[in-house]
Amino acid sequence: MSKTFLGGQGRRNFMQSALIAAIALTGIGTAQAQSGAPAKISTVYTGDVINGKKVVSSLNTSDLEPGKKHLLYFQGVQMSTGQYWYVSVIVAKGVKPGKRITLTSGVHGDEMSSVHTVQTVMNQLNPAEMSGTVMAVLDIARPAMESMQRRWPSTGRGFELTDMNREWPGNENGLGAVSRQAGLVFNRLLKPNTDLAIDFHTGTTGLDVAAFHIGDMRIPDVKTMMMLYPVPAIWDNPAYPGVLHNAYIDAGIPAFTPEVGPARRLDLDMIPIFVEGTMNVFKHYGVVPGAIGRTAVDANVYIGESAVPVLSTHGGFIQLLVKLNAKVAPGQKLAIQRNAFGEVVAEYTSPVNGLVGGLRSDATSEPGNVLFFILADAEPVPGAAPYSE
Ligand SMILES: [Zn+2]
Repeated sequence: MSKTFLGGQGRRNFMQSALIAAIALTGIGTAQAQSGAPAKISTVYTGDVINGKKVVSSLNTSDLEPGKKHLLYFQGVQMSTGQYWYVSVIVAKGVKPGKRITLTSGVHGDEMSSVHTVQTVMNQLNPAEMSGTVMAVLDIARPAMESMQRRWPSTGRGFELTDMNREWPGNENGLGAVSRQAGLVFNRLLKPNTDLAIDFHTGTTGLDVAAFHIGDMRIPDVKTMMMLYPVPAIWDNPAYPGVLHNAYIDAGIPAFTPEVGPARRLDLDMIPIFVEGTMNVFKHYGVVPGAIGRTAVDANVYIGESAVPVLSTHGGFIQLLVKLNAKVAPGQKLAIQRNAFGEVVAEYTSPVNGLVGGLRSDATSEPGNVLFFILADAEPVPGAAPYSE
């Protein structure tokens, strides 16, 4: 939906007003005006039980019994059939009070290593020896996950795909299902129960990435958390509006995004360093006992201020000349592109000194696709295509 197409902000406001009027008529959501959350959230059980798990429409983890793991479904938005998209929630509630740390995955539907990382961490927790609470929300963009694709399929104006990680903090009464899902999950599940947050991602279909974090090193707790991982690279950047970790930060909750390798499959070599780092975060903040393991210092971490993209200028078949994590220099050849006759139509070089943080994994490319992004010390390039975490 572009502002231009709708005739600008006035049109948007009109549609919002019309929607609010419709809500008032039906009585739906009148307790939750606009996107505002209630001052204090309480746990609301819908009365439904699915596969043995109780369903909640809002959650306050302080209502849950200490010293246990709780498996719940959170009731998200309705589908066009009138059924609901439920989200899987695990709460490991310690016997003693302490920090509340939230782990999320599945904001993009093709990012499987992020789910497995969170599952593995939760399996290692013993609430009987914890001080504080760890909550995991595993499949936030359920319909995207059901079809193993990045974006959420919705039907408001015919079938369309929406990137949920440009929608946060969402709007419970928004016009689109994705914005409403973001609003419900953020207001009734994540924000009220979180002191520190980690939103796990991977590369996306067609673009493999190295192991790295995205986060703003100027925020002390964000820097502390990222440096507790034995992960070899950090993109020191607040990324862009609408991503979940920035919605947390706007709400005063330190948060960042680990990137756990390629999309669609489990990278069982890479997942353990993210599990170890997450357990280090719990230990550092006193949520679980034990000694800190390997950290960023052990991984000889590289910290880059920008992710410089190298874009395809032609259509054709791409032959990569470098691998992930390669150190590259300005002018170094990165890829060759050929047409269907085998004639070379383009050669691509690195514009900067840096580390290959991502590369195209599909062997063809249209003009404008990201072929590489280079984690670099260089200033961000104005107007450059952002890394699509
Ligand atoms: Zn993602």
